[in-house]
Amino acid sequence: MLKSKTFVKKTRSGGVMKIVREHYLRDDIWCGSEICTECKQESTVLQKDSCIESDLCSSPHYLVPDTNVVLHQIDVLEDPLIRNVIILQTVLQEVRHRSAPVYKRLKDIIHEKEKHFYTFTNEHHRDTFIEREPGESANDRNDRAIRVAVKWYSHHLDTAESDGLKVVLITNDQGNKEKAEESGLLVYSDIMVHRMLAVSIGADCTYPDLTDKHKQSALCNNLNYRHKMSQYAQRASVAFHTQLFFKSRGIVNEEGFILFVRKNAIIVLIPKFGLEGTVFFDNKDKTGPKLVFDEEGPSLMVEQHIFKIFDKVKVTISLDDSNVQHQKIRMSLVEPEIPGVSVPVPEVGPMAKKPKLDV
Ligand SMILES: [Zn+2]
Repeated sequence: MLKSKTFVKKTRSGGVMKIVREHYLRDDIWCGSEICTECKQESTVLQKDSCIESDLCSSPHYLVPDTNVVLHQIDVLEDPLIRNVIILQTVLQEVRHRSAPVYKRLKDIIHEKEKHFYTFTNEHHRDTFIEREPGESANDRNDRAIRVAVKWYSHHLDTAESDGLKVVLITNDQGNKEKAEESGLLVYSDIMVHRMLAVSIGADCTYPDLTDKHKQSALCNNLNYRHKMSQYAQRASVAFHTQLFFKSRGIVNEEGFILFVRKNAIIVLIPKFGLEGTVFFDNKDKTGPKLVFDEEGPSLMVEQHIFKIFDKVKVTISLDDSNVQHQKIRMSLVEPEIPGVSVPVPEVGPMAKKPKLDV
């Protein structure tokens, strides 16, 4: 099966180049597991009996580390006790781009027969290859590819012969972990796994409670809950300070670049403030301008003007405090001028003074 991807790229001289990439998907890539009766593989790498020799893990499992785990825990992965690990092609490629020494160490582990590390070429497997979605970053796309591959493995090896074998994703990325859990995957958060693996190879000791499966899971939940809450606090704090900043400045007129094009909006990055915002073109109550969205570009035609990614625009940024509970940063288009859509250039007045607080 052949998938081809076409996209256009702006060249340095300002021209446009069309690039066609072909991607072959195959149905003869095997899972590498001794348990499997489905794949027509001549030899296998992943063992049927895949317990770490420790009291921590009672059921057999294959570990699937994500890229960051490989980059930061290569020492642990090198330990002779860690065996039966699936290295996804996505992960291998990312590691190769990010650290040549770690990549070399990983390749060495894969070549060691006793380690039973299996490289799964998920990017060419017809059931695990995924396309990048519009608006999805390369990173997010790769995280999703990893989740899809783990899910595939879980289903693929979920047979009568598997004896409860689990395929476990190891990640320290909270977003990835949440998404993986939503799709029903078994995930270990990295901080816990690091401790557990260290204990299992005798490099560290831990509380007896931590080796109890239920207490371990309760602790994981608590850790994850606190982590999530601190992330919320972090995001809220960034939003709060951004709003404070623009509140004192009134309306500003800034240059920005289009990052994404959506059906009814453009997402603009203002380099001066490192701020991203959305300029919406449709009105819920009124009849908005004529919008034509072209997914292929992607581009969005608003009346006569076509917006494309990386186009330079000018926008006004202001704080909408009409609802005191939900103050928002608003962006409106100034340039290019589109009658009925863009707003006039704001008068640059003196900076609004901060109201004094009565103590
Ligand atoms: Zn198989």
